[in-house]
Amino acid sequence: MERFAVDRMLGKLAKWLRVLGYDVIYLRQSGNAEILSRLQEGRILLTRDSRAGSWHKHGKVFVISANDPKEQLREVVQGLSLSRMDEAFFSRCLICNHLLSTVSREDAREDVPEYIWQTHQQFRRCEDCGKVYWSGTHSEKMRQRLEAILADCK
Ligand SMILES: [Zn+2]
Repeated sequence: MERFAVDRMLGKLAKWLRVLGYDVIYLRQSGNAEILSRLQEGRILLTRDSRAGSWHKHGKVFVISANDPKEQLREVVQGLSLSRMDEAFFSRCLICNHLLSTVSREDAREDVPEYIWQTHQQFRRCEDCGKVYWSGTHSEKMRQRLEAILADCK
């Protein structure tokens, strides 16, 4: 799966890509050394900076032109011909990008509201920040919006 490094202006796009299961990290204050090392580790640089083309010789750069995050996602999915991998959906922490691990229902009990625990069977935890996710965490509305965006990509 492609991995990405994004500039700070693309926060919502980063979140959408994480929902799709992609490994996405933020660049800090766009130091050149950091951009170079991220490209060298094989990440695709996503940026709104049209001058970023000069990084092409060091790795793959994709310049985003849309302002709207949904349009940005469409640009990336189409422009890079990302393939859809449903099994990767919702596999990452949206906050810190870490992969989620399945936890037993018993282990999740202390970390989720009682009514959630009573009504859900499956829980996953981010091993980095500790946040617990359950099937309702990523709302149905989010899934529907995502489906709509992907449906438009061809
Ligand atoms: Zn996390």
